[in-house]
Amino acid sequence: MAVPFIDIKRFEPGFLEKWETKVKELSAVAQFIGGAEVAELEKRLSEFTETKYAVACANGTDALQLALRAMGVGRGDTVLVPDSTFWATFEAVVNVGADPVTVDTNEVDLQMDFEEFKKAAEKYKPKAAILVHLYGWASAKVLEYRKFCNEKGVLLLEDGAQCFGVRIQNESIYKSALISTTSFYPAKVLGAAGDGGAVFTNDEALATMVRQLANHGRTSHYGHGSIGWNSRMDSLQAAFLNLSLDHIQARLDSRISIAKRYQKELPALGINVIEPPTGFTENGYCNANIFSLETRPKLEAHLKEKGIAFGIIYPGAMSDQPGAAGYGKFGDKNIARKICASILNLPLFAYMNDQEFDEVYSALKDFFK
Ligand SMILES: *Cc1c(COP(=O)(O)O)cnc(C)c1O
Repeated sequence: MAVPFIDIKRFEPGFLEKWETKVKELSAVAQFIGGAEVAELEKRLSEFTETKYAVACANGTDALQLALRAMGVGRGDTVLVPDSTFWATFEAVVNVGADPVTVDTNEVDLQMDFEEFKKAAEKYKPKAAILVHLYGWASAKVLEYRKFCNEKGVLLLEDGAQCFGVRIQNESIYKSALISTTSFYPAKVLGAAGDGGAVFTNDEALATMVRQLANHGRTSHYGHGSIGWNSRMDSLQAAFLNLSLDHIQARLDSRISIAKRYQKELPALGINVIEPPTGFTENGYCNANIFSLETRPKLEAHLKEKGIAFGIIYPGAMSDQPGAAGYGKFGDKNIARKICASILNLPLFAYMNDQEFDEVYSALKDFFK
């Protein structure tokens, strides 16, 4: 039996019927942009993330750009970004007119390295920084980042496209961020039926600006207080997300239980399983949306032969991308490059079943025995 890397069509019983009904209802009244579904989604997102304001937008990349613009980041500003992330983090900085500088990765938590970050901040005096919480867990240093950036006057944006549902110190990871974002790309933890994104903050002025920028800088229907663009979420996406939010805890629990089994059972096979950081997260949990271990080419071939799909996330460091030529890079240890060359992500998705887990496990056992 083949095991997919991710399967996003394991909907709960009755889900697709409810969705069909929604599509009919919204289509019959031609409710396509904004409206009650978007308002409800924003309310539920703000509850779930424990933030005062949630603003829905067109996608996760726009969410980053809206947050940067709302913070006043633009031409001539330097923004520190992780060398390990999805390209959108890097792109967003350039798209608002600012200059990204990559900071290397920490070998233990696979997130931006805090010690390197402090040195880079000293050197570049950045206006802002983007901390990315990759793989369904939080940067082990998130609290230190927040404190440091607050003290040094660096505006810290947290890219939470891969940590929806993660909690630290008994609160949502988004709760105490200055401003944070997520993506509802279908393959994310909370996925839409197309593109979507959101910005979260407790700061009213930032939230107002994000909302304005996402709707052509509007202050009234034909009043434009700023140069924004169209990054509105459509009603159908919001409706799909509202239906999905009814099941978010079950989906997270399912992911967590698979992640825990990997963590528990793989080390006995001699596999280096990279675990989410513990210690600072007393009652926190990790939604582990991607699972990583080291060792590669031969394992790749073996898994392919066994029909086990896997991911290589990510195959290259940001600073090595052709599109990054000419932009800044701090440090020369190239840990990000090294991790990219050794990481392999095992299947992990909501409602992955025991049979599938066993299949992955026995393929690994075969290989490592
Ligand atoms: C997916 C992702 C994004 C971009 O989101 P889109 O909705 O695809 O634009 C940004 N940052 C990270 C870390 C992501 O994983």
